[in-house]
Amino acid sequence: MALKLFNTLARSVQEFAPLDPAGKKVGLYCCGPTVYDFAHIGNWRTFVFADLVRRTLEFSGYDVKHVMNITDIEDKIIQRVRENKTTLREFTGKFETAFLDDLKALNCKEPHVKPHATEYIAEIISLIEKLVARGVAYKAPDGSVYFSIAKYQGCGCHYGQLLKLNFDEMRAGERVSSDEYEKESVADFALWKARVPDDGDIFWPSPFGEGRPGWHIECSAMSMKVLGESFDLHLGGEDLKFPHHEDEIAQSEGATGKPFVKYWLHGAHLLVEGKKMSKSLGNYFTLRDLVAKGFTAREVRYLLLTAHYRETFNFTLDGLTGAKSALARIDECLGKLRDIAAHGRPESQSQITPGEVPFLKESVAISLQDDLNISAAWANVFEWVRSVNRLIVENKIKPEHALYALKDWETTDSVLGIGANAAAEAPTEIIALADARTEAKKAKDFKRADAIRDELKAKGWVVEDSPKGIKLKKL
Ligand code: AMP
Ligand code: ZN
Repeated sequence: MALKLFNTLARSVQEFAPLDPAGKKVGLYCCGPTVYDFAHIGNWRTFVFADLVRRTLEFSGYDVKHVMNITDIEDKIIQRVRENKTTLREFTGKFETAFLDDLKALNCKEPHVKPHATEYIAEIISLIEKLVARGVAYKAPDGSVYFSIAKYQGCGCHYGQLLKLNFDEMRAGERVSSDEYEKESVADFALWKARVPDDGDIFWPSPFGEGRPGWHIECSAMSMKVLGESFDLHLGGEDLKFPHHEDEIAQSEGATGKPFVKYWLHGAHLLVEGKKMSKSLGNYFTLRDLVAKGFTAREVRYLLLTAHYRETFNFTLDGLTGAKSALARIDECLGKLRDIAAHGRPESQSQITPGEVPFLKESVAISLQDDLNISAAWANVFEWVRSVNRLIVENKIKPEHALYALKDWETTDSVLGIGANAAAEAPTEIIALADARTEAKKAKDFKRADAIRDELKAKGWVVEDSPKGIKLKKL
């Protein structure tokens, strides 16, 4: 089955076909964090969604180049640097490190390239020069360089590809210098912002005068530099459709005359307890806030992955408690399979072949290829858990079946990425010690077996003997 995705550009679900003539290589760009604060749980919904897109593409056999920029120069950052009386690098560095730590904790695959806007100033300047040379950008009396929507449209280009815009309200030559504005105030937007006293020492020289780039041009310059003038997929939260992504298209297509991106994917927003997240409502959570409440990043990832990416998702703490028990059901089943795989079940009279253990990976792949139908994918997982549990109760699972099922799970989890329960699962060093103790007991070397038991205890694990073999439990 071919991968199908909802393309905002086409406003419909389309079959995915990469630009690569060999049909193998895929370029994916996801707008990254603006590093002026800790990422909140809404931001994480978008980055976990991007991770699922990448994993689904890889699961479907594509060779993905995943790029996520770090916005380390932008209006809000400058304001915070000024308020905190710090330097740009020190300020953004701290939040970038925190972001990458959280990204890892949520088991998101690290993007292959993470370009920083401040390291692409030369590319940004040369892109603006191209736009000026093509007559679609101009220097205004305030010293800043703006993108001219009227001139761009005059060249037969289309502004408003991702959403319908009403140009009747628009007055020619009206300009907006801020990076964020509503679609009602569509106007010429800033590519290069002339230095003002509030910028302090944050500015770069350029042929247009000292200043700094606007946010939108940063993404056009970085994505095209790393992935080429035309690439396959561009992702972000739905709030980025306008103006950020619309402006990216205008700048890129205005400079190259080529189609910029083939598929635009947008993730819907996350609400908390039914409301927009805000510090004043007390419903603003970072990943760190949730971990401090006793939840794990794994539970957060699972919960963020339970809803379809195009549906608004209502995040609740009760939902997170539900995620804990859903994962426990999966972990319990996997634990039983590992037990059987490792220690066998001598009384098993199974007549079934490994092939009779239900398949998981194919059904999950089919669900995800249908525009990332994650609800169907989880339904496949829990149906599998039920069937495996039933076969275990019926004593039909032999060690080879268990191994087969575990392998199937491992492959499936390469796309879901929920990983193992670190708290419940013994690391290989502990398993090796437990095996050495079993061997010592078999050899009737009880002194050594007891010494190993003590060593395990000192490392925080107890070993319990049962007729079915040993069980390791965390102290
Ligand atoms: P920012 O760091 O503000 O540039 O945002 C990073 C990403 O998070 C962008 O793709 C935003 O669209 C996305 N985002 C921001 N708020 C939310 C939210 N409440 N739910 C989902 N995604 C969000
Ligand atoms: Zn961007």
